[in-house]
Amino acid sequence: MATSAWVCFNCRSAVRRSSAFRGEVPCPICSKECTFLGYRILVPPKQKVREWAALREQLFRERTARDVREHEMAVRQRHDLEQEIVRLESMPANRGRARAVQLLRRQLAGSNA
Ligand SMILES: [Zn+2]
Repeated sequence: MATSAWVCFNCRSAVRRSSAFRGEVPCPICSKECTFLGYRILVPPKQKVREWAALREQLFRERTARDVREHEMAVRQRHDLEQEIVRLESMPANRGRARAVQLLRRQLAGSNA
């Protein structure tokens, strides 16, 4: 079974668990929730303060970039749904189209959540 690391940047400590573990991992020193690191990134030695700072910075940059990508995808998906509703409503109304528009509007409402 593959193992992954969770780290506490305050204590520069690491905890290893099964990669399948999905719960919160508390720091063994301060008990605060650890940050998931995965299995590919090496945990720096405890005394290498600068390596820990660089790792923290790297994770922050990666997460920010991912959040931006997810936001852009959500905006694009909403736009696609709106365009499809406009397209269907511009055609002669029938029961199938009315139902399709209703479903698309429901998806649109859900994508704003
Ligand atoms: Zn800690």
